[in-house]
Amino acid sequence: MNINGYTRLAAVVANPIKHSNSPFIHNMAFEMTEVNGVYLAFEIENNNLAQIIENIKTMDMYGVNLSMPFKKEAVKYVDELTPVAELIGAINTIALKEDGSLLGHSTDGSGFFNSLENYQVECQTISILGGGGAALAIIAEACVQKANKVFVFNRKSANYPILQEKLNKISKASGVEIILQDLADEEKIQDSVNESNLLINATSIGMKDKSMPVDANLRLSEGIVVADIIYQPAETEFLKWAKSQNVRTINGLGMLVYQAAESFELWTGKKMPAQTIKEALERKIYETRS
Ligand code: NAP
Repeated sequence: MNINGYTRLAAVVANPIKHSNSPFIHNMAFEMTEVNGVYLAFEIENNNLAQIIENIKTMDMYGVNLSMPFKKEAVKYVDELTPVAELIGAINTIALKEDGSLLGHSTDGSGFFNSLENYQVECQTISILGGGGAALAIIAEACVQKANKVFVFNRKSANYPILQEKLNKISKASGVEIILQDLADEEKIQDSVNESNLLINATSIGMKDKSMPVDANLRLSEGIVVADIIYQPAETEFLKWAKSQNVRTINGLGMLVYQAAESFELWTGKKMPAQTIKEALERKIYETRS
């Protein structure tokens, strides 16, 4: 890497963030595309967020990525939001525009769909398990891309009525039907999955142990694609179960790389060599751990 007076900075801002794979992804992209940039991770305290975002302008940075706990709060410091960011009220990317203003965007949903090779969202019916931040980004993106219908399943926690309100807002603004149901209702899940050609686990179930977000008796129809946005472990219990029914499965590593790719393109105007970087990341994460 040739850092000189022209090098521009991008960063991920979160807390905690030192474990992040984003510097690996973006610095490899800068190198491969020969863009004179460098990407760092800033672990900051809450009261420094406004200053950090202001620094994008004063330091002529490309922009930043945001992760927990700043995705919602950062919205108030940007000048403009993309339609999907407007729908969910959260951003994972800020880009410095040529006119000096700041654009806030959420690339998690588009990154997810771009990671499913050749999947056209338009007119499709999708079932998604979970209604947290990542799920909402995927749901909003599906609505912006004019899906036919989205079934959402969440446990009946204190979040359920809040989630219902958020989904109502997204549905009203996009004109796409979104149906929220109880994650414990096996019959409703079966009916919805029968109507869908994509089933996504966007809960955190399966990240720490071998638990499953659905009952193992659920039957998957031929041709359905099953995705888990978790990428550690590489194959969750949910994906193992889906694979045993001979359907195409995909984990969340592609989402991680493709959401980064969209940020990178917004900042630099260059396409990230996402597939090559994904393969390098697979080697880094999975081969060094086994
Ligand atoms: P989040 O906002 O905390 O949402 C978690 C979701 O999982 C909520 O719907 C929550 O339900 C549900 N959930 C958690 N524990 C549960 C349980 N025991 N039973 C039933 N439902 C449960 O988290 P997030 O940011 O959306 O992330 C969700 C997962 O996606 C995490 O595993 C994360 O690592 C992964 N992720 C991957 C990427 C990627 O790039 N591949 C990006 C972002 C996130 P309640 O609402 O009832 O709590």
